[in-house]
Amino acid sequence: MTQIERALKGEITEEAKSVAQDEKLDVNVVRRRVASGKIVIPSNTKRKVKIVGIGKGLRTKVNASIGTSTDIIDPAMEIEKAKAAGHYGADTIMDLSVGGNISEIRRAVMDAVTLPIGTVPLYEAFAVAAERYGSVTKMPEELLWEIIERQCEEGVSFMAIHCGINRLTLEVLKKQHYRYGGLVSKGGACMVAWMQYNDKENPLYANFDRVAEILRRHDVVLSLGNGFRAGAIHDATDRVAIQELIINCEFAETGRGMGCQTMVEGPGHIPINEIEANIILAKKMSGEAPFYMLGPITTDIAPGYDHITSAIGAAISASYGVDFLCYVTPAEHLGLPFVEDVREGVIAAKIAAHIGDMVKLSDTDRDKQISKARRNMDWNTQFDLAIDPQRAVEIRNKRKTSDEHSCTMCGKFCANDMLQGMFEKHARATDKE
Ligand code: SF4
Repeated sequence: MTQIERALKGEITEEAKSVAQDEKLDVNVVRRRVASGKIVIPSNTKRKVKIVGIGKGLRTKVNASIGTSTDIIDPAMEIEKAKAAGHYGADTIMDLSVGGNISEIRRAVMDAVTLPIGTVPLYEAFAVAAERYGSVTKMPEELLWEIIERQCEEGVSFMAIHCGINRLTLEVLKKQHYRYGGLVSKGGACMVAWMQYNDKENPLYANFDRVAEILRRHDVVLSLGNGFRAGAIHDATDRVAIQELIINCEFAETGRGMGCQTMVEGPGHIPINEIEANIILAKKMSGEAPFYMLGPITTDIAPGYDHITSAIGAAISASYGVDFLCYVTPAEHLGLPFVEDVREGVIAAKIAAHIGDMVKLSDTDRDKQISKARRNMDWNTQFDLAIDPQRAVEIRNKRKTSDEHSCTMCGKFCANDMLQGMFEKHARATDKE
């Protein structure tokens, strides 16, 4: 039975207990939200993973995507990237490999880390079809089902599956006549090519019950993929993206009804003034299924800095109720990320998640603690509370201070030093410490 089925029967699972303890929530609240589909717990009956809850009332979680391309196939580097993602605080990892022995790479990644692993099974299906039959358009439908089933058997915890692409959404796209950024979803673009070539409906849409049933059997979370997400600011919130969102939200309800844990994915590239509307629509239409935001990238003009453009969007998204963020690295739009890019991407997304949680969950205690440590010039406590202590220590150590107490920014005119002790005894009336 899945987490959702067990929660509906009133069972408090070990996983629900772990989420409640981790998030300092009443376990009955967690159980009720799992039962109603507002919280998902990606695991898999075949693989023991670190338990992470995603959804209503929980801290915003961060996913780091790794994986080979057809140009760079270096399994050892992918393992290093997975370990780095875990080390810097990612909650989950998606292996999006499309080059080399995809299933071997995925298994090696799963052996290297305990975090839940997500995939996009369409990628493997199209990569195998291209190699075996010469083109993604020649993918036999059964290959896709075999791969979804096999990935579940291997222990994948959540899968992004593009069920919302169908003939209707394709028609909406064609009628729209424009798309400044084209289709940026690899799975989406390959599926559209497959549908056009074969003149057939998307099998993942036409056989949604089969998708939900396979994932339900293994208790794998179904992440309803965003194949028509905007890849340019000027395409954000367009008709085709909303049409796909409507279908995905319907499927979130159907999947949940079948006992399959589901979440809904969101864009993409989006200006900050449209973020709130996208979240309201997805949450309302899906019955508050957890929302998995990809980025979002909030301007198109900063290649090399998209971990920053997306962190700005991610912080706003989390503050409006997004539950799960997919990181973006500085290599976005430019090349396959390396280990250092993974570090930058994870840290940027973690910062964004925390900034959002300060609003969403009033989670500001750590800010208060670090502020006091900074005022009191307690460097070690400051580093302990920092989101990336290693970076903070590196910067301080690179600059030799004339006085160990202060730092090289103001030197002997250190404002904190001058007024040491002045504020320590005074706390706000609302401060319970
Ligand atoms: S020297 Fe300036 S920046 Fe450094 S701790 Fe003192 S007040 Fe802060």
